[in-house]
Amino acid sequence: MFAVTEQPIDTAALRASLQRPEAGALVVFEGWVRNHHNGRAVTRLEYEAFAEMAQSEGDALVTEIQQEFPGVTITCVHRCGDLVPGDIAVWIGAASAHRDDAFRAARLMIEEVKRRLPVWKKEHHPGAAPVWVNCTEDTGVQRNAAAFNARQSSLPEVGDAGQQRLAQSSVLVVGVGGLGCPAAQYLAGAGVGRLTLVDGGRVELSNLHRQILFEMGDVGAPKASRAALALRARNPNITIEAFSSDITASNARTLVTGRTVVLDCTDNFTTRLMLHDLCLELGVPLVQAAVHRWEGVLAIFQRGEGGCLYCTGLPAQSVELDATGNCAGAPVFGPAVGVLGLLQATEAIKVCLSCPVTEIATRYTLLIDTLSTDITRVERPARVDCPFCRGVAPATSAASGSDDGSPLWVDLVGMADLHAPRLVVLVTEAESREFVLPRAARVLHPADSVTLKNVAAETTGPLVLVCPFGLRSAAMARGLRASGKSNAFALVGGLSRVRLAGSSSVRPEAQA
Ligand SMILES: [Zn+2]
Repeated sequence: MFAVTEQPIDTAALRASLQRPEAGALVVFEGWVRNHHNGRAVTRLEYEAFAEMAQSEGDALVTEIQQEFPGVTITCVHRCGDLVPGDIAVWIGAASAHRDDAFRAARLMIEEVKRRLPVWKKEHHPGAAPVWVNCTEDTGVQRNAAAFNARQSSLPEVGDAGQQRLAQSSVLVVGVGGLGCPAAQYLAGAGVGRLTLVDGGRVELSNLHRQILFEMGDVGAPKASRAALALRARNPNITIEAFSSDITASNARTLVTGRTVVLDCTDNFTTRLMLHDLCLELGVPLVQAAVHRWEGVLAIFQRGEGGCLYCTGLPAQSVELDATGNCAGAPVFGPAVGVLGLLQATEAIKVCLSCPVTEIATRYTLLIDTLSTDITRVERPARVDCPFCRGVAPATSAASGSDDGSPLWVDLVGMADLHAPRLVVLVTEAESREFVLPRAARVLHPADSVTLKNVAAETTGPLVLVCPFGLRSAAMARGLRASGKSNAFALVGGLSRVRLAGSSSVRPEAQA
């Protein structure tokens, strides 16, 4: 329930109205009129609201927050008219089965009332003319913005001008998971003026070890809105928007258009390719990262700079990629996504600064192996025959993503054409019991050091990588090709789709 009233607020009646047998907690916030503001004495306040707008916005707020926190009931009353020190200007009550939800919903309501409600106040000071103060302004916070940014703006490469450019920047973060959380936190910390978070997912318990913006109480809640809430508490000087839905072909163009830079923090190929194509078409720099277990890849795509994804030999058709499935739910080393997320933020902030002395890694792909502490920078030149880089939309002829005529993906028929390639299976111990493994394959577990170097050392001949769903092997094959092993391939569909000829349900003992 939301109401605007000119009468004194009856707190006992409001508390009673929120009593319900299923509630285990009531969190109450009372906003009082104080006798001073910004170092000046205050004798009285006049609150004025656009009543109809305030009512509809307040109703919408209560509905939104009750949806965000299912099971929480909220009542908010805002007083208008003449008030004196000691009066209650705003009363918010949140009743819930559990105290944590009640605290968080009440906190969100307070912040949003300050931010969104069309209410103004006139302050009366002794011996001076009264002044209008916008309730959405917190002058203390605004005054502190310079202090907030001081340690960064004092860098000669940033300065006040760079800080200003950051404040004028608009950054889109797609995916608020292991990569998106640290990236968004540092973008907010850097003072990016408009930060938009997009994620249709909800927080899961298994996310918390790496998705640092979430707490236990967030499990089950939409990721984008909870991340925005956490970030607003860290930096209230910037605008943070949350879209709790997936980015799709129908909304992507609107979301990407006009951005200073876009961060791809997703874990699926369809979105990856869509953002890649759209950003290059619109001329918006794209900072992309992906992590598999201990290893990560970072690439910055900018039109006219370095090679695109198609230049690197990735299939152009997301349909083909979808057919390979993905490794969502696969094991991942928390700090590896943290490192890659921070690198994404680093490069994105440099794009926003547009500082001539900072180099942005648009011509390289960075491969990071946190298990062996190995960092490799691989040049990513534009291919002269790349249809995408030449301004032609990716066509079926480029769909196989051929690199010197050899596609990254092979099926069983294609594998036969390779004449007894070396098969390397990338599975965990548990997965090796779940799937039927090819008999003659070399099986590598996380306990082994699965790195580009030791996989490449398996053979100088053709190498086909196989993983449960195809994503892990494709990433590894791409990495191998980028580091010079052009005869590395990934098996389409992985173990989940293909029953290999000569397979055994028992893991081979000899792995040589
Ligand atoms: Zn290209």
